[in-house]
Amino acid sequence: MYDCIIIGTGAAGVSAALTLKARGKNFLHLGNPALSAKIGAAEKINNYPGLPAIDGEGLKKAFLNHLEEAGIQITPAQVTGVYDMGGYFGVLCGQESYQTTTVILATGVEAVRPAPGELEFLGRGVSYCATCDGMLYKGKKIVVVCTSKSMEEEAEYLSSLAAEVVYAPLYKGAELKGENVRCINDMPRAIEGDKRAERVVFKNETVPCDGVFMLKSAIAPSALVPGLKSEDGHVATDRQCRTNLAGFFAAGDCTGRPYQYAKAVGEGNVAAHSVCDFLAEKK
Ligand SMILES: Cc1cc2nc3c(=O)[nH]c(=O)nc-3n(C[C@H](O)[C@H](O)[C@H](O)COP(=O)(O)OP(=O)(O)OC[C@H]3O[C@@H](n4cnc5c(N)ncnc54)[C@H](O)[C@@H]3O)c2cc1C
Repeated sequence: MYDCIIIGTGAAGVSAALTLKARGKNFLHLGNPALSAKIGAAEKINNYPGLPAIDGEGLKKAFLNHLEEAGIQITPAQVTGVYDMGGYFGVLCGQESYQTTTVILATGVEAVRPAPGELEFLGRGVSYCATCDGMLYKGKKIVVVCTSKSMEEEAEYLSSLAAEVVYAPLYKGAELKGENVRCINDMPRAIEGDKRAERVVFKNETVPCDGVFMLKSAIAPSALVPGLKSEDGHVATDRQCRTNLAGFFAAGDCTGRPYQYAKAVGEGNVAAHSVCDFLAEKK
């Protein structure tokens, strides 16, 4: 059982990890070991204290060096669900699962909003996880919508299982190929069906299918964590980064605007301190 699991390796997650390490906690940091694509994206950052001329790549390198110096390792994983077990949390990453007393959610925000029908059919023909659900669609026809090149590997895995794949990449430079793959360069307008998802509506055609995979670098927190309270599409938190679930904290872009490094770093720090207070009270 971990003291804490941090989900997400952006500015908020990195900051939380450094503070938990300094406080001697037994924690797991889950996400992309190359950190968040967003950290590296900025051409020039003018508002991060003490580093006036830095660009996104420079900040990313500085974060990675800092983690290495502190002896913090990131466990590569895409979290697919977090479950409140009453006193502890179960964190699911495809086939792997972990148990922890507290969680810090630092998953950023996904620019692409859920398509109409996506949340309605989640778990009924719509999946966010290739590793968890891919085998269910062996030999079947699926639609795969992918928001980031970094998730293309998961789409490849799906195309190795399914008989037919209609691939909708929402990024430039898609390279998914194969005799069973057909690309549509459009975003889904709706996912429709009766008891299960049965078709995806694009602007110029409707594609009948057995299942739909939405491969995103960040899933809506309410879909990831059943029972977690949201407000205006963000995780609802107080000033201590506490959510409505005891022992569950959130930090960074996922808690709301402004979407900025300094705010994410600050909240990561606050969330880590709140974790320490929570653990001390629990003893
Ligand atoms: C082009 C661009 C320029 C910017 N310029 C500036 C600037 O100049 N100044 C400024 O202050 N801010 C800037 N920002 C905003 C800044 O990048 C964000 O505010 C900051 O990165 C937020 O940090 P975060 O940790 O909350 O989220 P993110 O950096 O988005 O990190 C979230 C991480 O969680 C991961 N994740 C999501 N879901 C899961 C899951 N289920 N399992 C595991 N991992 C998951 C994601 O893959 C990602 O790695 C810019 C952003 C962009 C895109």
